Amino acid sequence: MPPKVIVGKSSVEAVRRLTPAVFEVDLRMEDPPEFDFEAGQWVSIPFGPKTVRAYSLASPPSSRRLITLCADVAPAGIGSRWFRALKVGDLVEFKGPTGGFVLKRADPRRPLFVAEEIGIVPIRSILWDCFQTGFGRPATLIYWCRDPSWLAYDREFGLLGRRYPAFTYRPIVREATGEWDGEKGEPEELVDRAVQSVEGLVAYLCGGGAMINKVRDVLMAKGLDRKSVRWEKFW
Ligand SMILES: Cc1cc2nc3c(=O)[nH]c(=O)nc-3n(C[C@H](O)[C@H](O)[C@H](O)COP(=O)(O)OP(=O)(O)OC[C@H]3O[C@@H](n4cnc5c(N)ncnc54)[C@H](O)[C@@H]3O)c2cc1C
Repeated sequence: MPPKVIVGKSSVEAVRRLTPAVFEVDLRMEDPPEFDFEAGQWVSIPFGPKTVRAYSLASPPSSRRLITLCADVAPAGIGSRWFRALKVGDLVEFKGPTGGFVLKRADPRRPLFVAEEIGIVPIRSILWDCFQTGFGRPATLIYWCRDPSWLAYDREFGLLGRRYPAFTYRPIVREATGEWDGEKGEPEELVDRAVQSVEGLVAYLCGGGAMINKVRDVLMAKGLDRKSVRWEKFW
């Protein structure tokens, strides 16, 4: 049974700035006291009768009393301005959980996750859920950002990669600023290099529509069928 959609009331418990434009907030559930969702799902925040913005859960479902959202506030619209202004004690009402960008655990294939910038959020929840519940299969994350300063969870995924040998973490940036000596280029280029065979592969892509199309084209050119490419389009 998928978790029930509810109107939840919560209050901001902590605010963290992960990069110059990426903010994380912890929300303490008030009513109901626990929030059930599946890793990869999202909640909607109302800004008026016909205006809502969607935010994916960044935390795994094991944390039901305290949930985390994470946003890139650079778009600077109504959602970004609201997120940026959140402070400890603020009340946050939302509706959810919604969405089908969830890892099918019964699927025996090895997942390839590809995130473009803030598209990492649902994938982070999925990955933590996998590690906390003992997902034994190989999984790869390709995490692309314009430059290293945007890689919000780089350190965390690096640590996970060292702790879980079945997890391969491959960050990549367009512009190698600072001390970056990792991979450089576009997400579809790394997918092209990294995927030798699509046999037994299932892909989960999240970010902008242009990235999703390009990565899907690369994977389909290698023989992956369209249905094996699952995606969540943020913009
Ligand atoms: C299912 C779903 C889940 C989402 N989860 C998250 C999340 O966890 N964190 C998050 O930050 N956003 C998430 N988004 C995007 C979010 O809902 C808003 O669109 C975003 O915060 C911008 O809202 P805004 O009101 O500031 O700007 P808007 O006025 O809505 O958008 C301004 C312009 O920026 C584009 N845009 C929106 N976001 C980006 C971006 N990150 N990079 C480049 N261009 C963008 C829009 O398409 C539009 O053209 C999600 C969207 C969907 C559909």
